[in-house]
Amino acid sequence: MSNPKNAVDPLIAPLVLGDHTVPGIWRYMLPYEFLGLDFPSERESTCLDCPRIVSDNYRQDYRCCTYFPKVPNYMLGLAFQNDKSTRPLIKQQLKSRFLLPEGMQESARMYADFIEQVAKEEFGQGEKTLCPYLNKENGYCGIYLYRNSVCSTFFCKNNHGDKGQKFWDEITTLVMQIELALSQWSLEEIGFDYSSYISRLNKTGNQIDKTFEPQTRKWSEKTYNYLWGSDVGNELDIYRECANVIEKNRNNLWEIANSVNITESIEYEKSANKLVLKKYKDEIPPDGSLDDITVSPQDIYKDVVKKHHNMWSLPNSPLVLNSKVVLSNSTRGNKKLYEVSLKKRKVGNAIEWTCSVEKGVFESLEIFKQMIMPGFDTMEKIRSLTGEDSKIFLSEWFSKNVLVKKIPPKAS
Ligand code: SF4
Ligand code: SF4
Repeated sequence: MSNPKNAVDPLIAPLVLGDHTVPGIWRYMLPYEFLGLDFPSERESTCLDCPRIVSDNYRQDYRCCTYFPKVPNYMLGLAFQNDKSTRPLIKQQLKSRFLLPEGMQESARMYADFIEQVAKEEFGQGEKTLCPYLNKENGYCGIYLYRNSVCSTFFCKNNHGDKGQKFWDEITTLVMQIELALSQWSLEEIGFDYSSYISRLNKTGNQIDKTFEPQTRKWSEKTYNYLWGSDVGNELDIYRECANVIEKNRNNLWEIANSVNITESIEYEKSANKLVLKKYKDEIPPDGSLDDITVSPQDIYKDVVKKHHNMWSLPNSPLVLNSKVVLSNSTRGNKKLYEVSLKKRKVGNAIEWTCSVEKGVFESLEIFKQMIMPGFDTMEKIRSLTGEDSKIFLSEWFSKNVLVKKIPPKAS
C-alpha cells in the first residue's frame, strides 16, 4: 500500500498526455476537459536519437534547445522550492541577470539574434542562442517538469503531419497566454507594483542599445537594477511568493487566467524589433509584439478542440493511397528498409518528405494501392500487421496526406 505522506503533490507531479510528459501544473491551469482529449503519440520526434542532427545539421549537444526560454516566475519558484537539482541552474540565471519580474527573459539583443537565426534557417545550428538549462552531458532538460509552453509542446516531426503540428501549436498559444496571465496576476497578488514595472520597461525602449551588454548580450546591470527597483536582491523570494500564491489558488487558475487583462510592454517590444536587421524583419511576429495577447484563453481553447477534431477525424468514404506517395523498399547490408515518401504537390517529382517505417506499416499502406472502404476485415488486418490500433493508424496517415479520401463514382 502506498504511503500518502510520500505521495507527490499533483501540482508538481509529471502529467502524461498520451505518451508525452508535461508539467503537473497543467492539471490545474487548463480546463478540465483538456485532460480528456486524445493526445497523439509523437513517435517520430525521437529526442535522444535526434533525427535532425543528420537531416538538418542540428548541433549534437543542443539539438532544438538553441532557444532561450521565457519561463514564468511562478514556475521557477515552484522548481526552486520543490526540486533541489534546479537550484544551481536558477541561481546561475539570477547571477547572469536573466530573471525579471515576470520570469526568465532574454535581452533585446538576444531576441534579435534569435530572429536572425530563424530567418537564416540556422535554427538548431547557432552559437548565439543556447538554452542554459540543457545538460550537455546527457542531453536532458534541467527544468523538465517546470519547462514552459513552447518547450512542452515542441515536436520537430508530427505523427499526424501538419494537422498534428497545428494541434500542438494551438496548445502552445493557449498555455503561453495562461503563463503570461498567471505571472502578471501572481505579481500583483503579492503586492508587487506591476504597472510601474511595465512603464519602466517601456521607458528602457528609448535607449534600447543601453539595455544589454554588447559582449555578453546579458541585460545591462543598470537596466536590470532599474527594472527591479527597490526589489533588486529579492528576486528569488518574489518568485517563491508567486509560486505560493499560485499553489494556494490552484483550483481557480483557469478562471483567473481568463479574467486577467494582460499588460503588454509595447514600447519596449517595438524598440527591440528595431534591432532586427531589415532583411530579417519578416520573421518578426505579425502583430509586431513578442506575444500575441489579443485572444482570451477561453477562445483559444475552442480552437484547440477544433484542431483536435480535425487531427483525428476520418472521412466516411473510401480511402486510397495518394498518387503523390512512393512506397519503396531496399536492402542495406542484411537489413531491409521500408520507406514512405510524399512528392511535392505542384513540383513534378521533387520529394517533400520521406520517412522510414516498419514492415507492418509498409504492408498496411500497400493495401490502399486500391481504393478501399475500411471495414472490419481491413481494420483487423492493419491491427495484426502493425500491432497498433487501426483507427489511430488510419487517422495518422490520413492527416499526413498519405491516405486520401476517394468519392466513389455514382452508379449509373
Ligand atoms: S524535438 Fe528536438 S530533440 Fe526531439 S527529435 Fe526533434 S529536433 Fe531532435
Ligand atoms: S528549458 Fe529545457 S526543453 Fe526548453 S530549451 Fe531549455 S533545455 Fe530545452
